[in-house]
Amino acid sequence: MRWEDRRESDNVEDRRGRSPRGVAIGGGMGAIVLAIIIMLMGGDPSQLLGGLQGGTAPGTQGSVEAPANDPGKKFASVILADTEEVWTKVFREQLGEQYVEPKLVIFTGQVDFACGRADSGMGPFYCGADQNVYIDLSFYQTMADQLGAPGDFAQAYVIAHEVGHHVQKLLGTLDKVNNARRQSSERQANELSVRLELQADFYAGLWAHHAQHLTQMDEQDLREALNAAKQIGDDALQKRQQGYVVPHAFTHGTSEQRMKWFLAGYRSGRVKDGDTFSLRNP
Ligand SMILES: [Zn+2]
Repeated sequence: MRWEDRRESDNVEDRRGRSPRGVAIGGGMGAIVLAIIIMLMGGDPSQLLGGLQGGTAPGTQGSVEAPANDPGKKFASVILADTEEVWTKVFREQLGEQYVEPKLVIFTGQVDFACGRADSGMGPFYCGADQNVYIDLSFYQTMADQLGAPGDFAQAYVIAHEVGHHVQKLLGTLDKVNNARRQSSERQANELSVRLELQADFYAGLWAHHAQHLTQMDEQDLREALNAAKQIGDDALQKRQQGYVVPHAFTHGTSEQRMKWFLAGYRSGRVKDGDTFSLRNP
């Protein structure tokens, strides 16, 4: 796919290097600014930055090391821009409604937000209460190294899936299903969760369908997305983590289901084909 030199979204908020209370941790950015000033004045900033390494609080390393050329952030901003373009058009043309863009919050370490507290190492997620997508960019590395899901299009799929939850929020599905889950048994709640997640996969596929003129995705990209859907299926994850599979504990769907619904969205491109709730076996 092509993502370099393309439009980046303005809806990206970089919260790296902040404490859970949202206060910037000393050192971090200030030190970098200072180092740049020293560098501009012909000095050697390595002394300053080197001296800081041991002094900063754990988990703030990212803020010290955040590179000026930040490809992970740039990539996420471009994909978010693509989702804005696609969903604005799809909402207008297919639903006669106006799309409200979500924010993408990049974090590292811990972040407090309307849905609770997020920890680094968690995969990306969507919070309906503040309508933000949260991502720790190190998850890309986890996907490639530990989940067997490398590739830029695999990473794009993950963002598009979270934006899919935002679409569910705007359409009222997310709140409706979460209310129903609260009044259900654990088993039923899990089943509803699976249907919600499969629909987000469908929306990610729908995004890929309509974004082709932007991403110029090819066969290899499609394989990357489908492989990612396969690797993060509940059965695949459970097998990897505990060695066996407990179907009633599934919350996201099997590898087969996740690939199926991504592909369905990719082939159809129509919101109305993504009803994962009325089928007996989605
Ligand atoms: Zn999800």
